[in-house]
Amino acid sequence: MTRTITHWIGGGPYSGKSERRSPVWNPATGVQQAWVTLAGVADVDRAVQVASVAFESWSQVSLSRRTRVLFAFRELVNAHRRAIAEAISDEHGKVVSDAEGEVQRGLEVVEFACGIPTLLKGDYSDQVSSGVDLFSFREPLGVVAGITPFNFPAMVPMWMFPVAIACGNTFVLKPSERDPSASMLLAQLWSEAGLPDGVFNVVHGDKTAVDALIDHPGVAAISFVGSTPIAKYIHTRGTAAGKRVQALGGAKNHAIVLPDADRAFAAEQLAAAAFGSAGERCMAISAAVAVGEAAEELVEAVARKAAAIRVGPGRDGTSEMGPVITSEAKARISRLIGTGAEQGARVALDGRTLVVPGHEKGFFVGPTVIDRVTPEMDVYREEIFGPVLSVVRAQSVREAIDLINANPYGNGTSIFTSSGAAAREFQRGVKVGMIGINVPIPVPMAYYSFGGWKDSLFGERHIHGAEGVAFYTRAKVITSRWPQLETSSGASYVFPTAS
Ligand code: NAD
Repeated sequence: MTRTITHWIGGGPYSGKSERRSPVWNPATGVQQAWVTLAGVADVDRAVQVASVAFESWSQVSLSRRTRVLFAFRELVNAHRRAIAEAISDEHGKVVSDAEGEVQRGLEVVEFACGIPTLLKGDYSDQVSSGVDLFSFREPLGVVAGITPFNFPAMVPMWMFPVAIACGNTFVLKPSERDPSASMLLAQLWSEAGLPDGVFNVVHGDKTAVDALIDHPGVAAISFVGSTPIAKYIHTRGTAAGKRVQALGGAKNHAIVLPDADRAFAAEQLAAAAFGSAGERCMAISAAVAVGEAAEELVEAVARKAAAIRVGPGRDGTSEMGPVITSEAKARISRLIGTGAEQGARVALDGRTLVVPGHEKGFFVGPTVIDRVTPEMDVYREEIFGPVLSVVRAQSVREAIDLINANPYGNGTSIFTSSGAAAREFQRGVKVGMIGINVPIPVPMAYYSFGGWKDSLFGERHIHGAEGVAFYTRAKVITSRWPQLETSSGASYVFPTAS
């Protein structure tokens, strides 16, 4: 009997009313390993109702008690990091050590949220007028929802819910239906940490569940991470429904390599940034911009590094790169590599024919390097989201910056150089949210905020850090006076000014 993964509502598993379900694959073997239940409108409504009731009490719980639950959750996630990483590897395909890295980055957001008493401190101004004080604090929004992608099934939800819950909100998570198990483990750990039932809920599903969340009048805010077309759709529909929405989209991250860079270092970093997690990272480098004479040597060195990557199942401790998520993803990536060759690029390393012995049905694509790519080609225009690095050539750092700025995405970018002047021109000139200088994947720490520009983010607020706290709360500003009983009212019909 194939296992069925159910929802988590009100502090425990919930089968739901919907009969719909979707297969969960093991990408390394190509075999279905479970079913996941797909929520209908009634199941989403139940989750939101339960979360609304839980909000009444959770929003009143003291900061000290909330913080204790967060610290307990932090300890439990830390203790179970291996089990979470293995669950991720089995359904996503990434190698276990890489999955542990994603758990660690999620855990850092929990640690950030443990400081919520400091983060929620308000402002106070004494005696703004005679006998009048002015102060402000922030309150939670209510039920907030998170809709997350397949590529980081633990980290991306953990970008959202620790901060939302610490602020006093209750949460409904709709994780990717392709790798749903990590979210169930996290729900179980919240329960063990003492989080009251109904504060954290998981509904599995597809567009039906997402639309039901966006349209539900009981949901105050939506955090979304996924591809650009869906991010745009969610932002448009969510804001039209009067909700606060932050919707992070796709990416095409460029790394510039200048002739003065340490080329061996750059090649090694580029290979890791392009092929780690089979390129299925929103911060993966998918386009290298080789400036001037850097190109030939760079392409040769990256292709050599890429060819040496050990590709295999994520559970095999010797593997450095696993399969891609589905057979459809494998077919799409292979087709796009083909268009590169057809449209005049040179495939310097071709991963399409790779076969992993013993895993012939797995969804494997080998590392691929495509040289002499130009901006009109499909491999440059599309977000491939696989282990494919395109190399574009430019004559100067200015031309490379212009190329990046002409791209519709603006998630992450980096430069390899030994020139401070060039790095400064780059950091000031690129229209991108997250920038690395000799750092290929510049993912900010939890106490800074994560987010791109242009088609990589719709909405005003980035995720986690101070921006996350602002997103999940709204301000109250109080003007207060405690008049002495014997004082006359002194009320005036003139608009109030300080006296
Ligand atoms: P996706 O957009 O297909 O799915 C994301 C979520 O939206 C999932 O929960 C999915 O069930 C739901 N969804 C899918 N189609 C929908 C529809 N038509 N209507 C409503 N909801 C729908 O993305 P994915 O393939 O799971 O993830 C990969 C994408 O996510 C890439 O584009 C990647 O760049 C992006 N991503 C971005 C960031 C970032 O921080 N900007 C981080 C991680 C991933």
